[in-house]
Amino acid sequence: MIIDCHGHYTTAPKQLEAWRKAQIAALSNPASGPAKSSLQMSDDEIRESLEKAQLKFQRERGTDVTIFSPRASAMAHHIGDAQTSLVWSQICNELIHRVCSLYPENFIGVCQLPQSPGVPPENCIAELERCVNEFGFVGCNLNPDPSGGHWTSPPLTAKYWYPLYEKMCELEVPAMVHVSSSCNENFHATGAHYINADTTAFMQCIQSDVFKDFPTLKLIIPHGGGAVPFHWGRYRGLAQDMGRPPLTTLMNNIFFDTCVYHLPGIELLLKVVPLDSIMFASEMVGAVKGIDPETGNYYDDTKRYLDALPLTAEQRHKLFEGNALKVYPRLKKQLVRQGAVKTAGTP
Ligand SMILES: [Zn+2]
Repeated sequence: MIIDCHGHYTTAPKQLEAWRKAQIAALSNPASGPAKSSLQMSDDEIRESLEKAQLKFQRERGTDVTIFSPRASAMAHHIGDAQTSLVWSQICNELIHRVCSLYPENFIGVCQLPQSPGVPPENCIAELERCVNEFGFVGCNLNPDPSGGHWTSPPLTAKYWYPLYEKMCELEVPAMVHVSSSCNENFHATGAHYINADTTAFMQCIQSDVFKDFPTLKLIIPHGGGAVPFHWGRYRGLAQDMGRPPLTTLMNNIFFDTCVYHLPGIELLLKVVPLDSIMFASEMVGAVKGIDPETGNYYDDTKRYLDALPLTAEQRHKLFEGNALKVYPRLKKQLVRQGAVKTAGTP
């Protein structure tokens, strides 16, 4: 089984964006904004939006199931207030639930949280519970910077976030640390803001005891772990100088994905980071859309890079399936229920 642990619904029917535009246009007087029920789209429109993109790529690239969440750059937690964010998150999550209901074998849901700058993350608990308990979602995307590039929240390891972590541990769901669009012109969203956030989150974890307080908390740091693998020696050295545990201890709770978009990057990732802490992912469709003229393949066809390496069967199993089943216990339960994976023998 090949599990892609990082995909967003970037190709949703255009009504979704139109609804969001109407919501934003009414920010000064939310009562005049669109009702949730005014967003209408048919199952056929949803099917069409996936058939021409994500499902086509799944088939062409030979992957089985994608852990699927709302479009990350559109979360835009900095827009409006907590109520704006709540309604928008609900709409996006309900749409993911429809996708997962239409294609239960191809997509498993992960939710957007209704974060808002300056609002304590407790406010996300009800939506997280709804998505996990009612929709069967297996994780959430957690934005370490709801301000969209100005970093006004406490570090991810601060007690500020603990109520959410308590709930995540209780529900057995991990979070992918994932920022959204940038409203700071210094930071290009996918080229700088995303990678900065990945790197920042990792360093915050080195400096803190968050995983002592939450031994079962799991954080996925996407985009290959940002700059961390390339600077692995720097982070090992910093941890040592600061009297912190070795990075390998941290990697029991932190997981990197394979969204680095070139073979040498994947080779480096696998060389320096414990294999048990790496999960296959592509982040298709959308972060980097094009075809690499040097290879003739899509940059985000990340399975090719792993297929090009001399991995053992056990290593491949961990990267494509085993590690994801460990990180997402609810995914494992769901796939076992569907008969897609076996209970025995699966790490
Ligand atoms: Zn993403």
